[in-house]
Amino acid sequence: MQEGAMQAWIESSQFAGGNAAYIEELFELYLDDPTAVSQEWRELFDTLPQGAYDVKHSEIREQFREAAKNKLKQAGSGSFNAELAEKQVRVLQLINAYRFRGHQHANLDPLGLWKQESVPDLDPNYHGLSKEDMDLEFNVGSLMIGKDTAKLNEIHKALDAIYCGSIGAEYMHIVSTDEKRWIQQQLESQLGKPKFSTEERKRALKELVAADGLEKYLGSKFPGAKRFSLEGGDALVPLIKSLIRRAGVHGAKEVVIGMAHRGRLNVLINVLGKKPKELFDEFAGKNTTDKAGDVKYHMGFSSDFETEGGNVHLALAFNPSHLEIVNPVVMGSVRARMDRRGCKDGSKALPITIHGDAAIAGQGVVQETFNLSKTRAYGVGGSIRIVVNNQVGFTTSKQEDARSTQYCTDIAKMVQAPIFHVNADDPEAVLFVSQLAVDYRNTFKRDVVIDLVCYRRHGHNEADEPNATQPLMYQKIKKHPVPREIYAKRLIEEKIVEEDDVKGLMSDYRDALDHGECVVDEWRPMEAHSVDWSPYIDNDWDVAYDSKITVDELKDLGHKVTAIPAGFKLNSRVAKVYEERVKMAKGDRALDWGMAETLAYASLVKSGARIRMTGQDCGRGTFFHRHAVLHNQKDAATFLPLTKIDEKQAPIEIYDSVLSEEAVMAFEYGYATAEPNTLVIWEAQFGDFANGAQVVIDQFLSSGEQKWGRLCGLTLLLPHGYEGQGPEHSSARLERFLQLSADHNWSVCVPSTPAQVFNMIRRQQLRPVRRPLIVMTPKSLLRHADAVSSLEDLADGKFHNVIGEIDKINPKKVKRVVFCSGKVYYDLLAARRERELDNVAIIRIEQLYPFPHEEMAEVLKEYQHVKDFVWCQEEPQNQGAWYCSQHHFHAAIPDGAKLSYAGRAASSSPAVGYASVHKEQQEKLVNEALSI
Ligand code: AMP
Repeated sequence: MQEGAMQAWIESSQFAGGNAAYIEELFELYLDDPTAVSQEWRELFDTLPQGAYDVKHSEIREQFREAAKNKLKQAGSGSFNAELAEKQVRVLQLINAYRFRGHQHANLDPLGLWKQESVPDLDPNYHGLSKEDMDLEFNVGSLMIGKDTAKLNEIHKALDAIYCGSIGAEYMHIVSTDEKRWIQQQLESQLGKPKFSTEERKRALKELVAADGLEKYLGSKFPGAKRFSLEGGDALVPLIKSLIRRAGVHGAKEVVIGMAHRGRLNVLINVLGKKPKELFDEFAGKNTTDKAGDVKYHMGFSSDFETEGGNVHLALAFNPSHLEIVNPVVMGSVRARMDRRGCKDGSKALPITIHGDAAIAGQGVVQETFNLSKTRAYGVGGSIRIVVNNQVGFTTSKQEDARSTQYCTDIAKMVQAPIFHVNADDPEAVLFVSQLAVDYRNTFKRDVVIDLVCYRRHGHNEADEPNATQPLMYQKIKKHPVPREIYAKRLIEEKIVEEDDVKGLMSDYRDALDHGECVVDEWRPMEAHSVDWSPYIDNDWDVAYDSKITVDELKDLGHKVTAIPAGFKLNSRVAKVYEERVKMAKGDRALDWGMAETLAYASLVKSGARIRMTGQDCGRGTFFHRHAVLHNQKDAATFLPLTKIDEKQAPIEIYDSVLSEEAVMAFEYGYATAEPNTLVIWEAQFGDFANGAQVVIDQFLSSGEQKWGRLCGLTLLLPHGYEGQGPEHSSARLERFLQLSADHNWSVCVPSTPAQVFNMIRRQQLRPVRRPLIVMTPKSLLRHADAVSSLEDLADGKFHNVIGEIDKINPKKVKRVVFCSGKVYYDLLAARRERELDNVAIIRIEQLYPFPHEEMAEVLKEYQHVKDFVWCQEEPQNQGAWYCSQHHFHAAIPDGAKLSYAGRAASSSPAVGYASVHKEQQEKLVNEALSI
């Protein structure tokens, strides 16, 4: 700070009679955390000229001292009690210490097994405050206990009640002063113990009775069956219901919940209102679907829930056993619902994700999902994260083995989420925290975490023996009363209910289960939703769809996608691309890949289909081919020509993604399963990076429809092709997708021309089928002289699953037919032309799955005399399509003909690292394919 400014500031009237040491200590507190001093002081310190924060404390201290000396001299003030002022600061330090570290002394563990370290800062002695000071009156500073001054004793007790009761609040890592003050206001003004009405308390008891009752019922009716009991974490049921109620009152229309198996059946029955009878049928093993199905604790559910703010639609996401992966799926589903409702801030849709303590600390996708939370493409206005913290992961104990941090929730600090640890045996504290969480999320649009500290009454599942690995914990659990008993006792003592009332609640609940109908009072039948999936249900791949488009329409679209606003200065290389596109739009130049793809998007948004594309660098395109998002070289402003197609067009959003595959692909899966009217595309930077999201491909994309009946039209664009770029940039692992292909679960395409990519993209959205589309997209073909199409080719309107011979080769002369897919076609074509071979025909299979048997039969009609068929691929023999698709090739060729392989030898690595070896291999495989 400038000396003059500091002097002027200190000499201002606020310091008359002041004491430099006092002010200086206050200032230090303020520098540590602005919320530590009262608002008055904060405002004062806030007026310090910019730059004060960079000055060393010792310098400021000196200036304070000088100024105070002068002030005191001038005022002749002898009345200032320096000792008391010093203590006053100590009191503020004590308050601050509680805010920072009170949670470490909070009563969080229902079992009382946590070894809590003693925190010295929470002892007044540590701050130089003695027993005698306890009766002295102090200013409470920024502590919001409803009065300006209080005895130290009272302040200390209040701090204990607020910060060391059943709630341990971790929020001082948040940088925003507003947010911290907001949380302090909520916690401190209620002295950590909000008052709930008798009705609310009775309802909480009823919900605990339900949570406990269901598990007991299942335990006795289906002994030994796996149900991943909630017992110990029973408060989860009142917690979620309270979140929904609060969200509903504040305007939420939809809540999407993601959770793993622990407590899931309980949530299904006691929150979402699934009929117990249906669950019992599932326990009895009754089959209700013709699909592959899934175990009951993976199943999703949808219903409506009545709140004082209107009905809220609930959707519990379907979920595989892979813990934590459902979180980004839930976020994507919420984002789709927000977009559908035109809601930008998340106020209409709330994501709630429920985690295990071991998984939230252990699984990397948790970090990836937190990282999505404030980005343009993936923000959902904050989420509520609940940890069902039963202090053990399967058989792995809490700290020594499961993690390296004190709390399992530490990862949430990366996005400065507040974390409320709460003792699950205190349902009122749980309800309080639920309200705090919803209000915080709605106010600040940020993530918030509730760490529900509980225990697990049984083993990992009910057939398991937990004493084998956690003997002491389970001895304790055995003697520990269940949450319902603890809360009932409390309400009986407080004369809110009587013993018989509790017994009545329990027997009523059992009767309701016997009856088998819905047991949730707030349950309401689902109203018609804004999205209708029925047009897509049970349609075969060959269902008819309207794909008409004329050359004139294409020219008009071409004109629009190349119109750049006046004054928008393109980079010279991009300008060149656009100049060429202008010619393509007029029909003066053949279309390349980038233009055809852009026209596909333009035609779709014009016809009313929304588009959402994300991926690493997809705005420009990894290979400099797309340029959908333009960057003004003058001011870095961006422009998306595809948003200017038509006044009535559908929105299109193209975002460069965060550098993640797993969370991002899962997010897009969640989006696409919630929204059939948007073409959702994820593009990999290089195709092989998709294996960072292998769990999404295996557990959701390939099999979600079979397991859960959930359709999903997500498109994956995976750059693939052998260009001598080494093992990591060649293969999108085609073989893995083909291996997972069955039940017509998705289509796997390798388009080889711009017209094909145009019609493939349109087909994906226009055809009333919503199944994933996996595309091996090219790299060098993006600029290959032969890989071009005319406007007429595009207007053909059809994606050809098979493309027959294009050169004028007399079929009768043909002695060998080579099948291939993708870029190698152009190598084969060039070599054949160069060698002037007229006895080899080359046929491209553009869709490898579902295999186009009919189109193949059509194309092969003229080659029925041929005995020699070859499948040629660039990938090593154990990769690519050879092993997974050869049964289809065999089925396609005439009886008695032989099928052989031309391609790289089997290899554990996808490609060689040396360009020269690559070239040799490539020449060899082309030779093999063409040499009869
Ligand atoms: P939700 O909004 O996710 O709760 O879905 C409401 C209803 O729409 C569900 O009960 C299903 O009948 C239907 N539905 C939702 N998503 C899909 C999907 N991906 N595929 C098929 N039907 C769906």
